Amino acid sequence: MAEVENFEFQTEVKQLLDLMVHSLYSNKDIFLRELISNASDALDKLRFLGITDPGLLPEQELQIEIEPNEAARTLTLHDNGVGMTRSEVIENLGTIARSGTKEFLKSATGARKGEPAPELIGQFGVGFYSSFMVADRVTVVTRRAGEATATQWESSGDGRFEVQSVERASPGTSITLHLKPVDVEDGIEDYTQEWTIRPIVKKYSDFVSYPIRLRVDAKAAEQDASTDAASVLEPLNSRKAIWLRSEAEVLPQDYEEFYKHISHDWQPPLARIRAKLEGVFEAQALLFIPSKAPADLYHREMAHRGVQLYVKRVFIMDECSELLPLYLRFVRGVVDSEDLSLNVSREILQQNRQIHAIRRFLTKKILESLKAMKGERPEQYLKFWHEFGAVLKEGLLAFGEKKESIFEILLCESTHSASELASLDDVIERMPETQKTIYFMAGTSRSVMESSPHLEAFRAKGIEVLFFADHVDEVWLAQNPEYRGKSFQSVGRGAIDLASEEERTARAEETEKKTATYKDLLDRLQASLADEVKEVRLSSRLTDSAACLVTEEGDLPPHLAELMRQAGQSVPETKRILEVNVEHPLLQKLQVLYAKDPLDATLAEYAQLLHGLALLAEGGTPKNPASLSKRLSELMLKALA
Ligand code: ADP
Repeated sequence: MAEVENFEFQTEVKQLLDLMVHSLYSNKDIFLRELISNASDALDKLRFLGITDPGLLPEQELQIEIEPNEAARTLTLHDNGVGMTRSEVIENLGTIARSGTKEFLKSATGARKGEPAPELIGQFGVGFYSSFMVADRVTVVTRRAGEATATQWESSGDGRFEVQSVERASPGTSITLHLKPVDVEDGIEDYTQEWTIRPIVKKYSDFVSYPIRLRVDAKAAEQDASTDAASVLEPLNSRKAIWLRSEAEVLPQDYEEFYKHISHDWQPPLARIRAKLEGVFEAQALLFIPSKAPADLYHREMAHRGVQLYVKRVFIMDECSELLPLYLRFVRGVVDSEDLSLNVSREILQQNRQIHAIRRFLTKKILESLKAMKGERPEQYLKFWHEFGAVLKEGLLAFGEKKESIFEILLCESTHSASELASLDDVIERMPETQKTIYFMAGTSRSVMESSPHLEAFRAKGIEVLFFADHVDEVWLAQNPEYRGKSFQSVGRGAIDLASEEERTARAEETEKKTATYKDLLDRLQASLADEVKEVRLSSRLTDSAACLVTEEGDLPPHLAELMRQAGQSVPETKRILEVNVEHPLLQKLQVLYAKDPLDATLAEYAQLLHGLALLAEGGTPKNPASLSKRLSELMLKALA
């Protein structure tokens, strides 16, 4: 008798099982989809290993068999896939929680309290454990291809599982569910019946590329009596690769199921893209844009995600990141190439000409589809933009990418409207032909930027300013981009004077006079702020505020410098320029004070206050907030005295 070893489930797995046993999900049928998908993955893995080691492949066709037993009230799924070793079984089915489990538990417990429980199972890949929704005991017998011994795993979902060595005639995995009693009200159907199983498989797993066969009683099966076996296998799925069927032939819900199958996302996709590459290289692609960004869109691991690669209907690999540029990493789907070798490895893919050709083609197709969506279905496009716009803009940094096509579909906030996003084409349509520059502000949020003094002159002149608030914006904007012959200019950088040539000439004399009049005051303020700014100068961009801070052309914008520091880069401090509005009563008063006594200490105090307030106005943080606040309260006291 083989020795039975006992194990505890890992804490998170335990919690998960508890949720499954007392299942929240009304749709319990999906356990079958999850088990079939695992079996199909195991067959994919074996087929892939078989390319280099054909000895591992079974003589029998690769397949999934479903065997119901009405009398024993069990349902068994057999696959002749890659199987698991003893240690793999222990790890995979109990001691190591899958990476999404924690997140799953969080959302599932959240859902329990309030709204109806969403169907989250697929998204978080808790697949196997869903068997405990319909079974009170599960037995797995598995043998790894290339190994002689098999392992049996068994659990009642109560916190423990048992493992022992057993015999299995050939490699593969059999999972037996000891079914709970039928309870239609609770969503538990009779899973020993063909009429229950067949529609579930059809609905969820029709496109699985391996035959899924149901073992049925030979007497019950309608057949030509050519066999005297007690049971026969009946095919359940059509196996037609959905990406090869004509669009007219495929129902929208079939596409949706397929998307859910490959993406582990439980929500329907936002859009579908079919693409066929013809010519020197041939490939077919069926791509989807998800309706929600995954939580890890900006994590490093996400960077490796990508679409699935098939070669002539043979699954080669998941997450083939070489097929799409990084900024399109949110796209899911399948690419089936006619010409690649089945032996392709990741290393080969990186320099493969066909892969490069497919990637260029897919990139073009996706950007074209997005452009069409923007034009034809603006509401849908807006949803897309909110989820993935910031990632798409990473393409503006990439070398050699078609930036023009990204600019065409870029949306951003703008002073033109408080509620609607603007596209660059709209902005260019709206501006006078003579305007050569698209003005923008980059910062943390629109509301902060909107109250910036930098906008005053633009408001006064009715010139549109765009707001950019994503991290990536500062970076692409710093590369001096151009679109349709227009350059981008930050309203907070360099000397901005919106006056026309004539206005400037007319004003020249006055400006000269002003400069002469206020020169001494400005010098005095600058001397008091020697540690903070490199210059105090007259402003031509302010109308209402007393002062604002400006970054000199060529210097790093402060927001970008901050981001770089957060990313661990050492960025030298650069001083900025304090621009003052001498029309403002505050400056007028300071001028009077200066005239009375150029050495008056109040001037230095006010210089500090002006600088601190200019920083606050742009959403910045003064170096020493406590001293600024102290100065302000002293000032308030004086005013009340
Ligand atoms: P997921 O399928 O999301 O990885 P599961 O909990 O369903 O999560 O499965 C855990 C792991 O167990 C799988 O990743 C796989 O390695 C292994 N596994 C499950 N079913 C099978 C099977 N039929 N054959 C081989 N390995 C399997």
